[in-house]
Amino acid sequence: MNPDTVSFLRQAYREYYFRRADSIEFPDDLYSREFGYIPFGGGMVRHLSFKSGGEAVAEILKQSPSSVYCSNARYESPTAPIEEKGWLGAELIFDIDATDIPTQCKRGHDLWYCERCRSSGKLPRPPKCPKCDGPAAEFHGTCEACLAAAKDHTLRVVDFLTDDFGVPHEAIRLYFSGNRGYHLHVSDERFCPLDQLARAEVADYVRGASLPLSQTIASTLRRRPVGAGPQGEGWTKRITGYVDAKRERYPGTLQKLVSDAISSQRAMVD
Ligand SMILES: [Zn+2]
Ligand SMILES: [Zn+2]
Repeated sequence: MNPDTVSFLRQAYREYYFRRADSIEFPDDLYSREFGYIPFGGGMVRHLSFKSGGEAVAEILKQSPSSVYCSNARYESPTAPIEEKGWLGAELIFDIDATDIPTQCKRGHDLWYCERCRSSGKLPRPPKCPKCDGPAAEFHGTCEACLAAAKDHTLRVVDFLTDDFGVPHEAIRLYFSGNRGYHLHVSDERFCPLDQLARAEVADYVRGASLPLSQTIASTLRRRPVGAGPQGEGWTKRITGYVDAKRERYPGTLQKLVSDAISSQRAMVD
């Protein structure tokens, strides 16, 4: 980047950060987080830590970077190299993105295109451009329906957290991801010590990925009297409640109804 452009951008960003300094939100235990930033002109500066929000703001104003990052993990020594930081735990975070939600509109606005000859077509993306063998990339568009779906799935995650995991509403913070969805942060100490595997299990639960086949669930439900009401906890309660409310007037099979119960309640999280 041209040095004049870099200095113009830094100046403009400095003014912006200065005017908005009060609205910069810092996480709890700021001193145990790793900070990093991307300066204009490229590169990445990492392994920083600050004692207070004031100190962080001062550095942000001084450097005026294009973006600033803060770890969701807490460390004993946030400025040490990664293997010596001493991991103390991390907030549970969900990433909900329209890309992961199978909306009907995708057929209309998602494409693959060839980076070499510019030909394009509907997804799924071919391994190589059929015309020139060039590299094929994906383009994901966004429309109102996609954003509404991302919002809907975000609210489903909130339901899982509050109803199934007993997380208080005030412990959940929502942020627009700046792309096509939301980031959901959970400040609940119970989740902090969980490792990657346990976090993946929580995500699988919310996605309904750990459930038995809908055929198996349906054969269990077949033995229940119609109108018995929701039963059990968690997914059992969700599925029995849904099936019970719709079963009498449902035109399809019980297995299909169980699939509907799952797909209308699961949240496609990352
Ligand atoms: Zn091509
Ligand atoms: Zn769409």
